[in-house]
Amino acid sequence: MGKLVYGSEISADLRAGLKDRIDGLKAEGKRLPCLAVILVGNHPASLSYIKGKEKACASVGIDSRMYHLEETASKEEVIAVIEECNQDAGVDGILVQLPLPKGLNEKEILACIDPDKDVDGLHPVNVGRLYLGEDGFRPCTPLGVMEILQRMGCDPDRKRAVVIGRSSLVGAPVARLLQDKGATVTIAHSHTRNLPELCREADILIVAIGRPKLVGPEYIKEGAYVVDVGINRTEEGKLVGDVDTDAVLDHVSAVTPVPKGVGPMTICMLLMNTMKSYEKRTA
Ligand code: NAD
Repeated sequence: MGKLVYGSEISADLRAGLKDRIDGLKAEGKRLPCLAVILVGNHPASLSYIKGKEKACASVGIDSRMYHLEETASKEEVIAVIEECNQDAGVDGILVQLPLPKGLNEKEILACIDPDKDVDGLHPVNVGRLYLGEDGFRPCTPLGVMEILQRMGCDPDRKRAVVIGRSSLVGAPVARLLQDKGATVTIAHSHTRNLPELCREADILIVAIGRPKLVGPEYIKEGAYVVDVGINRTEEGKLVGDVDTDAVLDHVSAVTPVPKGVGPMTICMLLMNTMKSYEKRTA
């Protein structure tokens, strides 16, 4: 029987370490790390994500500043807030909550963030740094996936990895990070033929598709390490991943559940990236 590895537990552990470090800064009377979060409009899911981020920051002692702009805010108004945060020496990380209202070009807006405060790792400069193997901010969900693999006891070096999903937010950067760790990586997607057969070659299988329980035992090599990034809501309102966890559990070394898997790691990596920025800026 394989092991169920909970991102929620790994995240709690990392957050406790982070809190200790920030408690130490407080005790020394130092400035605390600070994350600026910019929300445009009132998208209900975004409002709830923002609250989650604010709470997560508070739980470890990171200051958070919330900038809430009207749904009708112009490109210039959004960029002016980003510029203010870029210039503010007290701000270590800047996050623009996506999606932005229609009429605002996300790429254009994200490109205005100072790359050295881009804790979401989505600025083109940081994407370039990732592909060039240079130091920079990596996107939070892929970072969370790599941390989970490490905690599973899986060293990607010399292993065969298959990543299902090629999005610039998850699949493509995860593949790049795995390659950096020495894995031989194949990226599969909706046009890939013989997907189960291809996945059965994988010592490491990362699934980031958005199709409830698509991946069953026929996709699994015995003893594989499987990370399920997918989040899907069933008709009954239940959250499920892309992997049929119960069905694959007997065949894997380890697999993450949904919920309590990759989800909590994403927000945790945002906190870690904010701390990384703070440490670089105060070094
Ligand atoms: P996306 O829609 O941008 O990309 C999905 C990818 O899956 C595409 O590359 C597509 O080609 C591929 N795909 C779709 N159907 C397929 C199929 N039948 N077979 C093989 N490949 C297929 O989505 P995304 O932003 O990469 O997110 C993927 C999933 O991860 C979603 O469920 C999303 O909700 C979830 N997600 C979770 C977190 C988290 O924190 N846990 C973060 C981001 C995304």
